[in-house]
Amino acid sequence: MALIVQKYGGTSVGNPERICNVARRILETQHAGNKVIAVVSAMSGVTNNLIDLANAVSKNPTEREMDVLLATGEQQTIALTAMAINSIGGKAVSLTGAQAGIQTDGVHTKARISDITPTEVHEMLEEGNIVILAGFQGQTRDGLITTLGRGGSDLTAIAMAAAVKADLCQIFTDVDGVYTCDPRVVKTAKKINVISYDEMLEMASSGSKVMQSRSVEFAKKFGVRFEVRNSMNTNPGTLVKEEEKGMESVVVRGVSIERNQAKVTIDDVPDRPGVAAIIFSAIRDANIIIDMIVQNVSWDGETDISFTCSAAELPKAEAELNKIIPTLGGNVKLRSQSGVAKLSIVGIGMRSHSGVAAKMFNALAENGINIQMISTSEIKTAVTVNENEIEKAAKVVHTAFGLDA
Ligand code: ASP
Ligand code: MG
Repeated sequence: MALIVQKYGGTSVGNPERICNVARRILETQHAGNKVIAVVSAMSGVTNNLIDLANAVSKNPTEREMDVLLATGEQQTIALTAMAINSIGGKAVSLTGAQAGIQTDGVHTKARISDITPTEVHEMLEEGNIVILAGFQGQTRDGLITTLGRGGSDLTAIAMAAAVKADLCQIFTDVDGVYTCDPRVVKTAKKINVISYDEMLEMASSGSKVMQSRSVEFAKKFGVRFEVRNSMNTNPGTLVKEEEKGMESVVVRGVSIERNQAKVTIDDVPDRPGVAAIIFSAIRDANIIIDMIVQNVSWDGETDISFTCSAAELPKAEAELNKIIPTLGGNVKLRSQSGVAKLSIVGIGMRSHSGVAAKMFNALAENGINIQMISTSEIKTAVTVNENEIEKAAKVVHTAFGLDA
């Protein structure tokens, strides 16, 4: 008898029919001879509605109360899912995060799991129950309700799978798995059968978000293999696992795009210690998330520093930088532009193959697409291009690396 942890996201439980569909699937899994723990999210839209409600009664909702409020979304779904299973002849019980022994630190709205004591979970399973577990929530040692950050039900599933040493962990969502590129953009994109944790993390951080990144990091740390699958069909999904020999033979696993970016350049900054620290401390103090930092080599006492951020945060970034630029001395200028998009290729095979960047840049060049910025990591090469060329860029690069179906 295998122990299986399944997770169903907000879309998969988005209305009563879908909850009944999920209930059937969970019961079938048990009938096939397994013990089942099913983690569920709030029904789609519910968490956002709760946040709107909080903002409607308070300019600055207290985080302790925010968690009390947000945890109710998942609590609705566990009760409904358990009821649906019981009504078709199964035996299911719902458990909140606290009841399931999920202990977290006290950082409200983005708590980290510190320990799991799944005594109650095991007892319920032993008695023949299907356990329906609320995602995204836990409790502190002092019994305060906490939540794990947006998308945190993925983390609940992965962490519970690690704690109970599950034989299989399945993340059910509204797509068939992880694709070589967004199929809405590149029609020839195909589902990836196997991907390493690191590739999955790089794809997510470059725009191809299927799962909460923290949960993938957790899976990597504790060696939890999992499948990403579609809750609406029975197609095979994507297996996410540790790197293995042979996986490097694929040079590029996937292509990610991220739209709505902006590029910022601080031009002719003096080449002396502390300048970059001043610039990026100002950005940090404004809580702006940045990406793709590029500094040119200085040969004449001055250099240029560029970075990208989301276009929505550009005005804030400009305002912060304008405050500190006069303190840098010299003839520093600020330039910025939104309407930029990022294109990344990701693959662990890059570590052992040469000519990967050349192939990407040639594909773009042959199609007259100008590259604005370039950055690389061990398993990723990223460029920015004009936003209106990003779809074409994604297609030609996808083709160049032989990823088309
Ligand atoms: N309901 C939470 C959210 O919308 C957690 C989750 O769905 O994973 O972020
Ligand atoms: Mg210059």
